[in-house]
Amino acid sequence: MKKTIPQMEPWFDETEAKAVYEYMKSGGWVTEFKKTEELEEKISRYTGARYCVMTNNGTVSLILALLALELKAGDEVLVPNLTMIATPNSAAILGIKPILVDIEPKTLCMDIDKAKKAITSRTKAVMYVPFNGRCGQMENIVDFCRKNNLFLVEDAAQALGSFYKGKHLGTFGDIGSFSFSTPKIISTGQGGALITNNAKLHKKIKMLKDFGRTRGGVDVHESWGWNFKFTDLAAVIGIEQMKKLPDRILHKKRIFEQYRKLLLGINQIEFIDTDLSETSPWFIDIFVPQPNKLQTHLQSNNIGSRRIYPVISSQKIYKETYKTKSFPVSEKYASCGLWLPSSSKLTDKEVETVVQTIQKYYND
Ligand SMILES: *Cc1c(COP(=O)(O)O)cnc(C)c1O
Repeated sequence: MKKTIPQMEPWFDETEAKAVYEYMKSGGWVTEFKKTEELEEKISRYTGARYCVMTNNGTVSLILALLALELKAGDEVLVPNLTMIATPNSAAILGIKPILVDIEPKTLCMDIDKAKKAITSRTKAVMYVPFNGRCGQMENIVDFCRKNNLFLVEDAAQALGSFYKGKHLGTFGDIGSFSFSTPKIISTGQGGALITNNAKLHKKIKMLKDFGRTRGGVDVHESWGWNFKFTDLAAVIGIEQMKKLPDRILHKKRIFEQYRKLLLGINQIEFIDTDLSETSPWFIDIFVPQPNKLQTHLQSNNIGSRRIYPVISSQKIYKETYKTKSFPVSEKYASCGLWLPSSSKLTDKEVETVVQTIQKYYND
C-alpha cells in the first residue's frame, strides 16, 4: 500500500523531548511561571508587540480580549462570515452579538465596505481575521475602526509569520490573538497568546486570566478574574517551536509556490493572489468547481485534504440564534475551497505526487 500523505501533521522531535526532560529534572512546578514568561518574550520580540500574554488556547484568548476591552452582553462585534467558528463563538459566550460580514474575493478577509453598512449604535469592535495569513489594506481597516470608534481585535490565529508592509499581523489593532493548537504552524498542543502595545490592556489581561489578582499567592482580588493560565510544561515546547518557526515559514512559502507553479495550467483551479514576501500561508488553499469529488479522488490515492470552513451563517446554531441571511462571496468560496496537504514536513516529492494526482483527475 502507498504511504498516506496527510493534509497536515504536527511536528515535534527530540528537541522538544529533551527540553521537557530537562525542565522536569530541574524541579519546575509545571504550572505557569518563568518558562511561560520566556515564551511571551520570544513572541513579543518576534511580532514586534510590546506585550504578550499566554492563554489556554486561541478561543480563550479571544474571549479574554473582549473582556479586557470591557465589551458586554448586548454589544455587537463585526466578524467575517468565513472564519473558524471560534471567532464568533468567543463573542457569543459573553452575550455579545457577532454580526456577520461578507468577505472580499481578493483576500478572503472581511470586506470593509460591507462592514460599514453593518454598524449599529451597539457595535463596539471589529474582529478582523487574516484568513490563511492574508489581509486587506490594514491602514484602511485601522482607519475605519478609528473613525467609527470601534476597537480592533485581530484574530491572527492563522497568521503567525505573516506581515503587512513589514509589520506583523496582530499588531495593527488594540489586541492580536494567536493559537498554538495542533494544526497551526507551530504548536504547544493547546495554547493561545494575546499581544498588545497597550500597558493598561496588558495588565488587565494578566489579571483577568489570574483570578483578578496582581500576583500569584495573594488572595486579594482587585477585579473580576478567572483561571486562563498556561503551563510552563507547554511553554518549554513552545520555546523550541519558536526556534523552528523561521524554517517552517520558508517551507510553507516554498510548497505554496511549488503547488501554484505546477498547477498553473489547470483552468478549473483558482489560487488566491498571495504575496509570499509577506504572507506565510498556513494551509495551501485552492478553489475548484466540485471540491468533494476532487477530495474523494485524492482520498482514493491516499492523499489527505480538508474542505475549508463552511460559512458561519450556514451553521445550525447561527441560523437558529441569529436568523442569518445570505452572504454571496463567502458562500461561493466556502463552497469550492479545498485545503491540500500543507504540513511543514511535506517533501518536494510529496508535493509532486499530489500535483500529479490532481493533474490525472482533470486530464482523465
Ligand atoms: C485555530 C483558530 C482559532 C482557535 O484556536 P484554538 O487554539 O483552537 O482555540 C481561532 N480563530 C482562528 C481563525 C483559527 O484558525
